[in-house]
Amino acid sequence: EKNKEVRVRFAPSPTGYLHIGGARTALFNYVFAKKHNGKFLLRIEDTDTERSKKEYTEQIIRSLEWLGIKHDEKIVYQSERFEVYKKYAERLLNEGKAYRCFCTKEEIEEKKKNNPKWKYNRKCLNLSKEEIEKNLREGKPYTIRLKLPDTEIRFYDYVKGDMKFHSKDFEDFIIVRSNGVPIYQFTVVIDDYEMGITHVIRGDDHLSNTPKQILIYQALGFETPEFAHIPLILGQDKKRLSKRHGATSVEEYRENGFLPEALVNFIALLGWSPGDDREKMSLDEIIKEFSLERINKSPAVFDYKKALWINGKY
Ligand code: GLU
Repeated sequence: EKNKEVRVRFAPSPTGYLHIGGARTALFNYVFAKKHNGKFLLRIEDTDTERSKKEYTEQIIRSLEWLGIKHDEKIVYQSERFEVYKKYAERLLNEGKAYRCFCTKEEIEEKKKNNPKWKYNRKCLNLSKEEIEKNLREGKPYTIRLKLPDTEIRFYDYVKGDMKFHSKDFEDFIIVRSNGVPIYQFTVVIDDYEMGITHVIRGDDHLSNTPKQILIYQALGFETPEFAHIPLILGQDKKRLSKRHGATSVEEYRENGFLPEALVNFIALLGWSPGDDREKMSLDEIIKEFSLERINKSPAVFDYKKALWINGKY
């Protein structure tokens, strides 16, 4: 649908400070939204109550503000939405698109230990109503698994091109753990749907999650959004970016006296270019020139000296 409003989101897990990679994902989403007069939303993925820290959430919000990456609408916190996820899980159970699995973790781990390629054998798929009720009465813990159809999964990715998977590549994966906590794949689909997200732009470390998420979209009868998976940022030694390569958290740049405009400029050029050799670009210029098609297919290489050089131009 051509006339649909563009709605994108940045969905950090508050398990650390906002780093360069996350800031770039946020920025690309933001400029894409602004370019299309759309909305840029912020969602805090804090379902992992052990690893998520309020302090990180606050820091992420502050770093985005400092960069001038302003979100529209109210921030969505996943930790406040357990009832919503539960409702959808129940719907899938009622429709026979998901099922309760009473197999224990030990049982499953034992099988996987003996054969790492082992896929869940659907032992609990055809339990009778009586068996299920008996297990529930006895208070046996259970996970909820998605019942996968036998189907090809195709999608187009703005960076990667045509992608093709098959449901055979996966097992009936767990969508709700035995402690009642839904997994990332499930919450992300429900939230992207409820938030009306049209384009999912994120790091390509999530590329292998996408077919699973599409299976969830289909089970729930939701239209799938469009996807763009951005190649990771590497250090000069071609290893995944880490503290060894220089300042990696946005907070460090602020403390080192960088100007936010300069950092935005530097980050925008990590794996994207306006198609000419311009290196000093304002946020407005970046918005004007931005397109998903011009994101590089290969990983960006981080160079702290270049960040300093750009900052010197401001
Ligand atoms: N919360 C996820 C992360 O921090 C991102 C989820 C997504 O963009 O789909 O990696």
